[in-house]
Amino acid sequence: MHKNRYYILHVPMLSLVGLQRRRRPLPSGPFGGRLAPMSDAPLHVGRFWHHEGDCVVCTLCPRGCRLRDGQRAFCFVRQNVGGQMVLTTYGRSTGFCIDPIEKKPLNHFYPGSSVLSFGTAGCNLGCRFCQNWSISKAREVEILSEHAPPEAIAQTALRLGCRSVAFTYNDPVIFAEYAIDTARACRALGVKTVAVTAGYIRPEARGEFFEPMDAANVDLKAFARDFYRRLCFAELQPVLDTLVWIRRETSVWLEVTTLLIPGQNDSEDEVARLCDWFGAKLGTEVPLHFTAFHPDFELRDAPPTPAATLARARRQALAAGLKHVYTGNVHDRAGQSTSCAGCGALLIERDGYTLGRYALSDTGVCQACGRPLAGRFDGPPGRWGSRRQAVRITRAERAGS
Ligand code: SF4
Repeated sequence: MHKNRYYILHVPMLSLVGLQRRRRPLPSGPFGGRLAPMSDAPLHVGRFWHHEGDCVVCTLCPRGCRLRDGQRAFCFVRQNVGGQMVLTTYGRSTGFCIDPIEKKPLNHFYPGSSVLSFGTAGCNLGCRFCQNWSISKAREVEILSEHAPPEAIAQTALRLGCRSVAFTYNDPVIFAEYAIDTARACRALGVKTVAVTAGYIRPEARGEFFEPMDAANVDLKAFARDFYRRLCFAELQPVLDTLVWIRRETSVWLEVTTLLIPGQNDSEDEVARLCDWFGAKLGTEVPLHFTAFHPDFELRDAPPTPAATLARARRQALAAGLKHVYTGNVHDRAGQSTSCAGCGALLIERDGYTLGRYALSDTGVCQACGRPLAGRFDGPPGRWGSRRQAVRITRAERAGS
């Protein structure tokens, strides 16, 4: 079983066989219920590929899929159609939802604001513990119910008062052209953008992908090459490279998330190595989120992450010098609140996704000692709270785009 899966990593078409063999019910979207199949939509020729012989070669992520005419890629949403690389999910979504920005999670990016969130189908990693498999493992014809051009998404966010749009639920690297065009449309209207990603992208595609993004939450799934190979069918180093590149070469606001899985990536030794690398390469003021795993997809025999494990990892990270370390997917008011890196004052109190005490100026300065808090702040905190609200892109907005 393991050998087969590792082989799949290098032979994209076999991955499709693997996915198709998994007998799963038709997935439901983030809003519940079965979603209708998408009607015919025009195919969109992608931007990150070249020809090699009679193949097209994708240059978007480290897999570098080589596709003959008609073949689908590992991520399923890219296909060689008549000698061109096509993104089959351009302009199509699983649906839209307004979330609190803290749910991405981003704790230092316009706190309390609302973010219009959406995803498509497929993924370029193969995580056995995927917490969102109904979307990431789906063939797009099963779940893409909503036609949403980039300009319509930006206009909808503006109309609904969302501070930002998030490319999330599945990895936006695989729908890069759609995410980039949407981010540019948002920027033209003054709406911020957020990429929630595993950071599995090639150096030559990073610049174009992240240039229109205002913030990113990047998954650092573990700090072990073996973990990435065994449980994600991917490599660790490209993710580390992306993190360092975002931090050093861009103005994108960065936060990082590590899902702790009992017995897989939660040892004191691994957490210590991760924190040492993090402080040295990314700096001590980049927020780090340790979040709780729940058994899902192909890793249902591992137990849920105990709250004590998250608290221990957080203590380790703070002891290693990191200033802003959070716990997630558990109720932990202290572990989810923000303190000043200078004087230690409580700056943003959180109870779940609801803000309590807020002791920052409009520009993000500690009211007690005057030290700026790392992040993006503009005015008083938002009041969206913990609500989630499904949204449809209206026909008028689609027509007007
Ligand atoms: S983005 Fe998709 S098609 Fe491109 S290399 Fe990665 S898995 Fe293959």
